[in-house]
Amino acid sequence: MTARILVVDDVPANVKLLEARLVAEYFDVLTAGDGHAALATCEKTPVDLVLLDIMMPGMDGFEVCERLKANSRTAHIPVVMITALDQPSDRVRGLKAGADDFLTKPVNDLQLMSRVKSLVRLKNVSDELRLRAQTAQTIGLQELARVDRPDEPGSVLLVDGRASSQERLTRALKPIADVAVISDPQAALFEAAESSFDLIIVNANFDDYDPLRLCSQLRSLERTRFIPILLVTEQGNDERIVRALELGVTDYIMRPVDPNELVARSLTQIRRKHCNDRLRASVQQTIELAVTDDLTGLHNRRYLENHLKLLIDRATTRGRPLSICITDIDRFKRVNDTHGHDAGDDVLREFANRVRATVRGADLACRFGGEEFVVVMPDTTPEMAAIVAERLRLAVESRGFDIPQAATDLNVTASLGIATLRPHGDTAEALLKRADMALYQAKNGGRNRVVAAAA
Ligand code: GH3
Ligand code: MG
Ligand code: MG
Repeated sequence: MTARILVVDDVPANVKLLEARLVAEYFDVLTAGDGHAALATCEKTPVDLVLLDIMMPGMDGFEVCERLKANSRTAHIPVVMITALDQPSDRVRGLKAGADDFLTKPVNDLQLMSRVKSLVRLKNVSDELRLRAQTAQTIGLQELARVDRPDEPGSVLLVDGRASSQERLTRALKPIADVAVISDPQAALFEAAESSFDLIIVNANFDDYDPLRLCSQLRSLERTRFIPILLVTEQGNDERIVRALELGVTDYIMRPVDPNELVARSLTQIRRKHCNDRLRASVQQTIELAVTDDLTGLHNRRYLENHLKLLIDRATTRGRPLSICITDIDRFKRVNDTHGHDAGDDVLREFANRVRATVRGADLACRFGGEEFVVVMPDTTPEMAAIVAERLRLAVESRGFDIPQAATDLNVTASLGIATLRPHGDTAEALLKRADMALYQAKNGGRNRVVAAAA
């Protein structure tokens, strides 16, 4: 996992210490010695996470956090506050300022890494959704792309083995959420899969049941995978917390539970869940409404052209490779001429199915027009792209197309052109153009082959 982390502290020795640990884990580290420098960095560079000291001269950490969260360009960056004061009141203040998490000095190494990794993982998901919502906006579906709306009450499932804490926690959460309480962890799993909760709070206080088993089951079920989990656990059990975070538990809170902290942390998770739900819904609707090709169900050219620009920006700023493949069915006109237009449509549908079955989930497959298809492959080098393209070529050639209008299976082949993003100053148009030239060479070279554009 590579991510860019900004470390903010007025004491250079503290900065150095954190920087060294993070660099050792292959994170990309930026540093700032005061609040103003931190805000300026977040404005001009993409940052995946901020580790923020609270006590700094001039602007303190609370204010830096508030400003980051008030600015729509930086509000989505997770903030972890690092403080010498392990006071519940400071935590509450930080959480009210929008902080996502806390670490106390001296920073425990395992906790630092687990927290950072779990927050970066979450950010990757919401970045992807944000990117897609942005495409919806570009296409003109404003309503679908709206991300910020006022808080709606959350629905929380509290899994807790003891009546006394059930009562206490429910009372604390009452102002912000509807709480369903359940004592039996296995029954809780069913309940969670049946209903739609925004947050599941697991209190690790069962007599003879490992609460992490429930957390892990919640993470593996399709229906509950995306629901945030907040674990309530005792002090001094770092090992359990680290394991919990690795399992995908979203956050944790120590006993004795401070009601304000519980509310603040729950709110953060509920907000994030609502936000992700909206983005997900918007993506779904967007695709259904405007960017799907009716015949094949793949994305259409309009979606490709908008989304490719964003994917290119992202690959360029992150220094990651990206390749595309254009494929065109060979002598397709003959299919229409011989078997009729409906047969041609059937071939296009089956061709699309083979494209879909061949590419990874992260790839974007589109019908570019007529009998031309484009696959965009993020994080893919020219070598890998050549392998994928060859696999696609074979997937078409190796099995005949079973078309009702024809007595025997049709032999279909395709030509493919691939091109890879240049590290500097490349554009979607130029990239598509290079792939198209390569495709043209594949046609001229005799069809049914893959040609790569020169780098
Ligand atoms: P080449 O190997 O050079 O690509 O030859 P080709 O015959 O595939 O290429 P050409 O561009 O000459 O013909 C493409 C044909 O695809 C012509 C057009 O009628 C047909 N076509 C385009 N869209 C559709 C469609 O949605 N359905 C059907 N059935 N045919 C289509
Ligand atoms: Mg063709
Ligand atoms: Mg053509």
